[in-house]
Parts: sequence; structure tokens; C-alpha cells
Amino acid sequence: MKIFVRCGRLFTGNEDEAQKDAVLVYDGGGQIVYAGAEAGAPKRGKGDRAIDHSGQFVMPGLIDVHTHLAYGNAKSEEDIDLYSPLEFRALRGMFFAQKVLASGYTAICSPGDAGQISLSIRDAINAGLFDGPRVMAAGPYLTTHQGLTDWYPTWIGAPETSIGKLVTTVAEAVEEIRRQVKNGVDCVKIAMDGIQRRPDGELIAAFTQEETDIMTREIHRQGKKAVAHAVGREATLYSARAGIDLIFHAFHIDDECIAAMLKSGSVLCPTLTQPKNVIEFTQPHEPAAQRGRPDATLRRYQTGCKNLKKAVKAGIPFLTGTDSGFAVTPYGEWHARELELFVDDLGFSPAAALRAATEVNARFMCGGDRIGVLEAGRLADFTAWDGSPLKDIGILQDRRRLRAVYLAGREMKIEDRPYDPRRVTDFALSNWTDLYTQARVAELRGRRRPLQAAE
Ligand SMILES: [Zn+2]
Repeated sequence: MKIFVRCGRLFTGNEDEAQKDAVLVYDGGGQIVYAGAEAGAPKRGKGDRAIDHSGQFVMPGLIDVHTHLAYGNAKSEEDIDLYSPLEFRALRGMFFAQKVLASGYTAICSPGDAGQISLSIRDAINAGLFDGPRVMAAGPYLTTHQGLTDWYPTWIGAPETSIGKLVTTVAEAVEEIRRQVKNGVDCVKIAMDGIQRRPDGELIAAFTQEETDIMTREIHRQGKKAVAHAVGREATLYSARAGIDLIFHAFHIDDECIAAMLKSGSVLCPTLTQPKNVIEFTQPHEPAAQRGRPDATLRRYQTGCKNLKKAVKAGIPFLTGTDSGFAVTPYGEWHARELELFVDDLGFSPAAALRAATEVNARFMCGGDRIGVLEAGRLADFTAWDGSPLKDIGILQDRRRLRAVYLAGREMKIEDRPYDPRRVTDFALSNWTDLYTQARVAELRGRRRPLQAAE
């Protein structure tokens, strides 16, 4: 039995243009046998089925290589690490993975998660227990004192439920890599940014070059991919020289980093959506605003785009990912904003952004030679849209235009179930964001009347 999909326009991921009046044909196992002009298609036989998307734009399922399934739309680092047990987070992550799928994303990489949450979600989906996107999974970030994800004071350390695994020696790092590989990770994440700055303001990397080399070698020796969080120049440079497969952010990338990446073959996922949303969505009353985070993020974003454009020009492959899982990047909402930002802020054409989110992302993914492109031999992971994202990349964020999502040829029907964030994420113990001195209370009351003793 074969399935014939009539496509108003077919964007395969292999070319910049979409073909008019094309057809996609796949077998009962969801493997594509033909994608192209109707004239060259195999003949429809008895028992073959037809699906009509002749009014739609058909393209590969989108891929987001930066979605943290364990974070749960967190408002703080404590939300990510502390307040809910790993078991609850895994169930919640499964629910949110379905929201991602329902938004047209058929595959994600979850690079850095507590415990074995994303591994378990991946395995539950692969075992057929739930519908969900294809998941490439990591365990906790390898971090050190000075590293991102070692957020808490030394007298607390990195709790077992944290997304960071604190390693204090190279031997501990190697041991943790082997433990994660034994547990079944697809990739290992290293927190390369430190927290200290040089007098000139440059971030000092959390690990030395030698430590980064040893960790990366061991990850590769075990047949896994290495990924790194690296905003700073030094973190980016060490990652590139070590041959880290995928570098996230790289906002302070310079010519030396670019040369090292070209030499080692590292690719880059700048992740513009999360900072852009921090800048645009944070409200003045929120602690992040009061600490000046949106302004600082804006400066970093502008510098980042300027630097990243040089990397685009140099030919470094750019992957799309959003850092979904924070309160500013809830699951299933903003994944396709990254494509719009690639166009608006990095100078990509809509076609190049589409290819970044499909075939370029697929090259990084495990089993990526079977997804990301609609061509014979690959899996029929595809989506159908009203309107052309080649004309307006923004339509990919409009759920009303998403007509269907298919995974290996099977249409996914995910119920759009609402949820109450207070029972899903908001378990933080903080009660107030202000300090109610007499002066502050008088100010809040507009000094209409003096504070009474009895109050
Ligand atoms: Zn991230």
C-alpha cells in the first residue's frame, strides 16, 4: 500500500524553491518513495490511498535543536532544578513534547536536562507509548565551579535534581560522560561559559582548553555528539578548537573562533528567540526587569547579531533552536520565531531559514539522514500549511495556518489541552517581590494618608 499526497506546493528541503502541483508518495511504513512533479510519479495502484493537500504548502517537519523538555516553562533556575520531582517533570515533559509536535515540529534536540528526563521521553515515544516528536536527548550539563548551571552557593552545591552535574576534576568529568553514555544519551552538553569576567568585561571560560579537549575526545570516543553552551568568546574558541559538534549562542564569536570552527567542523545554533523574548516580553514589575536584564540582553543581542553575521558569511552552518522551556519561551509557542529572526536579524532568505530548520538541523540530529528532507528513502515527516512561508516566514507561527502534521506518514492528532501553570510549574516559595517599609507603603498609597499605627 502506498499513500499519495497531492501538494499545492512542495518544498523538499533540497532546493530553495517549492514545486507547484507536486506529489509526495510513501509506503505503509512511512518511507518516501517519490517526491516531485506529478508527471514523474509512480502510478497509483489498487488499494493505494490519497491525501489531498493540493491547496497547501507541504514541507518537511520542522526541527528545533534547542528545546529543554525538563524545564517546564520555568520562571527561575530554582523552578528548573528544585521544586518538582524528576518523575513529575518527565510526565510534564511528555505533555509539553506533544505541544511542540502539535506546532509543526517533528523532531527536537533536548540538550541538557535533569536526570534522565529527555531520555525517558524519547524512549517512551520510540516505544510507541505516546505520540511525540523525535527526540535527541542529553543528560545534565557538565559544569564546574565557575560554570553555568552551578548556580547555587558552594554550601548547597548542585543538587541531584539539578540540570547541572558538578565535576571538579577531569577524572570526574570523564566518569560522568561514561555514566551518561551508559544511560543512553545521544549527546553530552558542556557548560562552557563561566561567571567571572576579565577587567575588559570578557567572560572567562568555565573549563580550560585542555579540559575541554579531554572531555570532547571522550564524548567522541564513546560515539556521541558533544554540544556546548558558549556565549563568551573564550568559551566559543575552546569549544571550536576542541571540535564540539554544536555550539549554542556564540554571541561573541570573532575571526579566531570562526577559523577554528571552520577547521574543526563545529556548527552553530545562535538561539535568538530566547533573548529576543526576554527583551520584548519582560514586564517592568518583574524581577528580571528590575535587575536590568532586558537592557543588558538587548546590548548582547545587538552585538551578537553583528558578530554572528560574520560567521554566516564565512559559511558556518547555522541551526535553528529556541531555548524553549522558559516562561518567555513556552513549549509549542515560539519555535518558528527563530526562522523569522534568522531572516530579520541575520539576513537569511526565507528559503535559507526554512532549510536551516529542516535539512541543516537534520544533519546534526541522530538518524538525521532519514529526516529533514522530503526525498526517496527518507521518512515522511511533513507538515501542510495555508500560505507560503517563502513569501512570509511569519506564517509558521500562526497555528491556524498549520493544517496537518505527519510523522512517518501518520497524521498526528494532538488534543489542544489547556493547563494551569500554577499546578504545572509555579512551585516557587517566594512570596513577595517588594519590601514594605512605611515609606514604600505610603508611596504605594499615593501618600493619600499617613500609615496608621494599627495597620
Ligand atoms: Zn539552552
